Amino acid sequence: MKKKYDLVVVGGGTAGCSAAYTAAKAGVSVLLIEKSGSLGGSMTEGLVIPAMKSTLNNFNTSFYELLIEKMKQFGGQISYSDNPGWFNPELLKIALDELLLESGADVLLNTTIHNINLTEHRITSIDIYKEILSGYNDKIQEFGKTLSVNIGARYVVDSTGNCEIGKILNCKFLKNDKREQPFSLRFIMSNINLETFSDWLLDIDSDRNVTTVERINGDIHLSTAYTWDTDKKWALEPVFSAAVRDGVLKESDINYFQVFTIPGMPGSVAFNCPRLVDMPADITVENSTKALISARSAIYRISKFCKHYFPGFEDAYISNISDMLGIRSSRRIKGKYVFTINDIKNGLKFKNPVAIANYPVDVHSRKKNKSTLKSVGEYQIPVEALMSEDIDNLFVAGRCISCDFMAQGAIRVQPTCFAMGEGVAKYIKTLIDA
Ligand SMILES: Cc1cc2nc3c(=O)[nH]c(=O)nc-3n(C[C@H](O)[C@H](O)[C@H](O)COP(=O)(O)OP(=O)(O)OC[C@H]3O[C@@H](n4cnc5c(N)ncnc54)[C@H](O)[C@@H]3O)c2cc1C
Repeated sequence: MKKKYDLVVVGGGTAGCSAAYTAAKAGVSVLLIEKSGSLGGSMTEGLVIPAMKSTLNNFNTSFYELLIEKMKQFGGQISYSDNPGWFNPELLKIALDELLLESGADVLLNTTIHNINLTEHRITSIDIYKEILSGYNDKIQEFGKTLSVNIGARYVVDSTGNCEIGKILNCKFLKNDKREQPFSLRFIMSNINLETFSDWLLDIDSDRNVTTVERINGDIHLSTAYTWDTDKKWALEPVFSAAVRDGVLKESDINYFQVFTIPGMPGSVAFNCPRLVDMPADITVENSTKALISARSAIYRISKFCKHYFPGFEDAYISNISDMLGIRSSRRIKGKYVFTINDIKNGLKFKNPVAIANYPVDVHSRKKNKSTLKSVGEYQIPVEALMSEDIDNLFVAGRCISCDFMAQGAIRVQPTCFAMGEGVAKYIKTLIDA
């Protein structure tokens, strides 16, 4: 570890890995700081797979393309329905380790920020804890002195997903209106007979409203869903209704259900649920604790439901539960530009875009029939939406950029976060070279 870096990236998730890799490859000295024990953030710790499909006209896609290739080599990637973003979350951790190592960026895992030092409106350095804090640490009394180390930073990217650096620095945030998207907690079940399950699904969903099945490299892959919204003919509706009647599931458990198979994990499916419609979605430790506990209890119910109502699940078990709460609508920094839903609808063009996307405006509601999944044309995200209004050398990448609530519903998906990370890294390189 050096004493000073051109760029410190805080948050080694979707956007942060892309930013750190791109900058380091371009010759910038980079430190990537991640609070958990692995890289990948929502994709790995959060078990959020697959990456959603976005336009082929995107640019700043080099990192994502490289990751796809790397994951293919690991046997942890497939293209499903023309979407190459079907990843194995455990192998993704190893692929990201290798890519970041190759890039020359320094990486610190299990590392948290102690303090951020400012001179006027610029970050000058960051103090990090140099040891993992625990109740058994005999140096705890000397706290700041012995347990933190000071690292100079010319530029900082906050890719913590929730703008944690901006929060420490008291930056301005965009106000939340009354709307918020509910949390989810993702999990995986294994030891499923996918032949039996897919045959049953194709039979029950005979007009293929929501179910798709493909055989790829000899393995069955599938996706299916059910929600309480009445916009679609949900083939699984009678099964969920029966489970509520039988007292196996609660009414709230059936608001959203979605599963995807996982490359390199035969007999397993990843669940995009439970979605916690009864929980407040403010990001406080009290709320997130309650939400995690409530979600794990729902996961247990859903697993029992699957085992009893889905042919092929008889011997299945819960193999992974994410420790990271799935946060859809995070804090959003007030940037030099506020990217809005109207910019998306109008396909506004910008001088310095960091990403081009067409992923729909996907806003989950805690109320029945109130969620939005609205298709849009291509839109550009300007670099100014990634620049803090308050701190001259602070950039933000990922879902917590400067955008309004509805726009965040579109920009938050992984391909767009990768592009933002790559785009902001290239922009910072031009500032360093100037
Ligand atoms: C339930 C759910 C389902 C979703 N489904 C999909 C989907 O199917 N496909 C898709 O493409 N997108 C999906 N998304 C959206 C997408 O996964 C996320 O919006 C995106 O990955 C966020 O990327 P990010 O870089 O902003 O944050 P993250 O990838 O979450 O990375 C943030 C990183 O910062 C770290 N961090 C946080 N605080 C600190 C700190 N103080 N110091 C150091 N490190 C810190 C975290 O540990 C984490 O590694 C979903 C999101 C949710 C919640």
